Amino acid sequence: MTELKGIGVSPGFAGGPAYRVAPPPTLPVLDPVALDPETEAKRAVAALASVAAELNRRAAAAHGAAAEILRAEAMMAEDPELADAAEETARTGLSAARAIDTALAVHREAFEAAGGYLAERVADLDDIRNRAVAICLGQPMPGIPSPGHPFVLVARDLAPADTASLDPDRVLALVTEDGGPTSHTAILARTLGLPAVVRCTGALEVADGELVTVDGATGTVVTGAGAAEVEAAGAAEVARRQRLSAASGPGRTADGHPVALYANIGSAKDLMGDVEGVGLFRTELLYLDRTDAPTFEEQVAAYTDVFAALPGRKVVVRTLDAGADKPLPFLQQEAEPNPALGVRGLRISWKRPDVLSSQLEAIAEAARATAAEVWVMAPMVATAAEAAAFAAAVRTAGLPTPGAMVEIPAAALRAGALLAEVDFLSIGTNDLSQYTFAADRQVGAVAELLDPWQPALLQLIAACANAGTAAGKPVGVCGEAAADPGLAVVLTGLGITSLSMAARSIPAVREALATRTLADCRAAARAALAAPDAAAARAAVLG
Ligand code: PEP
Ligand code: MG
Repeated sequence: MTELKGIGVSPGFAGGPAYRVAPPPTLPVLDPVALDPETEAKRAVAALASVAAELNRRAAAAHGAAAEILRAEAMMAEDPELADAAEETARTGLSAARAIDTALAVHREAFEAAGGYLAERVADLDDIRNRAVAICLGQPMPGIPSPGHPFVLVARDLAPADTASLDPDRVLALVTEDGGPTSHTAILARTLGLPAVVRCTGALEVADGELVTVDGATGTVVTGAGAAEVEAAGAAEVARRQRLSAASGPGRTADGHPVALYANIGSAKDLMGDVEGVGLFRTELLYLDRTDAPTFEEQVAAYTDVFAALPGRKVVVRTLDAGADKPLPFLQQEAEPNPALGVRGLRISWKRPDVLSSQLEAIAEAARATAAEVWVMAPMVATAAEAAAFAAAVRTAGLPTPGAMVEIPAAALRAGALLAEVDFLSIGTNDLSQYTFAADRQVGAVAELLDPWQPALLQLIAACANAGTAAGKPVGVCGEAAADPGLAVVLTGLGITSLSMAARSIPAVREALATRTLADCRAAARAALAAPDAAAARAAVLG
């Protein structure tokens, strides 16, 4: 057995066979010599037929929208025109793999030129190309594996598109070589309640089918495990879940200091269990695939779905955080050399005040029709003047409680000035880390800098919490840092008044707070702030 160490980003134990996500196949620079065109033509057609058969098999096993998507892709793979094109291209002397690549490139261009619905199907063509070429070259099948039984998914990193088809009932845990504590993999794992380890060097060397165990809290992955270890991990997870589900109720420390525990959601379907409220409603996630702007009525309906589910509870709506890692096609933003430093978040309202005002009106309309306590905050606020302008727009729309996210160091340094303009702050630690450490949250190579235990990040959070205490206004954390049970203790000790996270992370955070007094939390905060680096801060608090 070999023990690999990564960063644990979603707690829990799992054990089972590992399967890797293979990268798209690459064509050799030159085709082998002396190919038989007839044989290659037959191989190309057979590869496409086999891709179609596999997609149909998966469609038959799936339900609802997933089944329809797979069936539609299977129909494209079965298209006789595509098979004819690949066959004819192979007859000109190309290998089966290159003939498929060429035929699909022509189809791809035609789809893109047609625009609209067809242009949106280009990703399906790419998937068909990758699968058929992999068959011809004898390379592993790209994409999320589906071995037909539960497994531990191992990947370099997972993009949002990879994870759309991920079946949480089949995946036991996620392990990636790259990614960081704020990567999509980490966010997804916490949303699905799956144990996850990122930055796990050596993970991709595991053989498909090899037994592994995963501890998503400590970041430990054991490869070459035996059946006994796998069974022990499963039993530990069952015991952990039983312990957590036994606890309920609002967040508080052992001596009764309240810390509200809210859910982060992207739409009403992310709501689960009995939550105190929603601390971050990422409204842009509703519209990531839209090429036309959502109508006023569509917006009202989406917000009403959420508010109606939470009568009497708080829902903090974030206005559209478009740009950088979350581009909204319907806004048709100009290309920028550094989108994370460009016109994103609240800045979009500089040129497009209509986008903000119509969203605020839709939120107000939904709030009037329901009984939720609706607060509204802006993403990417840099200055007190921006906070003031946003607060005025929110109040004009008839919404009484405007707030600002603190995601930019300038905002944290001037938290007191921001709080003079708005009623609350919510710290987005994912972006606050990114901008504090000048480390792109999408680049695995710099992920260690983005560790939310970094004392510099904690110092900025402390500045915000102190400003909140002085102003008598709430200051919450809604970035991924809030979902780390140990760090939740530190944040409480720093004076943070609420923590918002994926709903599945709440039980472990609730348990961590319930077993410490406020004095324990304050001692943990002092120790973490005094530590020289993230690892030392963790060790100082967790031992
Ligand atoms: C954050 O930046 O911490 C945050 C909560 O916003 P998002 O992750 O959606 O950018
Ligand atoms: Mg953010």
